[in-house]
Formats: sequence, C-alpha cells, structure tokens
Amino acid sequence: PPDVEALGRATWSFLHATAAYYPTRPTTHQRANMLNLIHALPVLYPCTHCAADFGDKLKEHPPDVSSRERLSKWFCERHNEVNEKLGKEMFDCAKVDERWKDGPPD
Ligand code: FAD
Repeated sequence: PPDVEALGRATWSFLHATAAYYPTRPTTHQRANMLNLIHALPVLYPCTHCAADFGDKLKEHPPDVSSRERLSKWFCERHNEVNEKLGKEMFDCAKVDERWKDGPPD
C-alpha cells in the first residue's frame, strides 16, 4: 500500500500549488476542469479511508472554484479539517500565498 504520509504531503503540495496559480478570473473550461480534479479525489485517491472522508467533506462544503483566492481558501479549510482529525496544528489560511506562491516576505 502507498505511504499515506508521503502521498499526503505530495498531494497537498500539488493541490495548494495548483490553487495558488489558478486564475483570478477562471474561464468556464478552467472551472469545469478544477471541479473534475477535485471530484476525482474521492474516487481515485489511493488511500481509501482518506478518499471516503474527503468525499463526505466535499458534500458538506462544495468547492468554490470561482477565483484563485476562494479556491486557495477552500483547499486550506479542507486541509485544516484533516489536520484537526489527525491532531496536527491548524494552518493560518491568511498565509497560503506566502507558503504556496510568494514565499516568505523579505
Ligand atoms: P501535511 O499535512 O501533508 O502538510 C504539508 C505542508 O502543507 C505543511 O508542512 C504546511 O506547510 C502546509 N499546510 C498544512 N496545513 C495547511 C493548510 N490547511 N493549508 C495550506 N497549507 C497547509 N492522512 C491520514 O492519516 N488520514 C486521512 O484521512 C487523510 N486524509 C487525507 C485527505 C487528502 C485529500 C489528502 C491530500 C491527504 C490526507 N491525509 C490523510 C494525509 C495527511 O493530510 C498528511 O498529508 C500526512 O499526514 C503528512 O502530514 P505532514 O504533517 O507531513 O504535513
């Protein structure tokens, strides 16, 4: 079976970075593809219980793919739900760009 921790770190990196560089004003095509990417996770993510829990959260909190800022916040909140479940520290969602886009301020 996959290493759930390494898989998780790699996947969050991909998802947060993809959200960080998502357009401010996405086209219909870009929005539809982002929705497909998100909805594929509960079907395909190779950690079965992670995938099932994420699918439940997706139903409670439908993804907001309307802008880069809203999508980044949405992923941050979903990641924080997993952090909470695993007893990890909450991440300050005001800092997503610093972490995943801009890097630390000088
Ligand atoms: P990670 O949680 O992987 O975080 C990596 C880095 O992201 C952190 O170092 C930090 O810089 C940054 N970060 C942390 N929180 C946020 C945030 N809220 N927003 C933006 N950036 C942030 N593991 C399980 O054991 N059970 C599960 O049910 C489970 N479900 C998962 C569901 C999904 C969709 C994914 C992608 C992963 C899931 N994981 C699950 C894996 C888990 O979330 C972690 O990736 C794994 O435990 C490794 O944790 P970590 O402490 O190395 O950092």
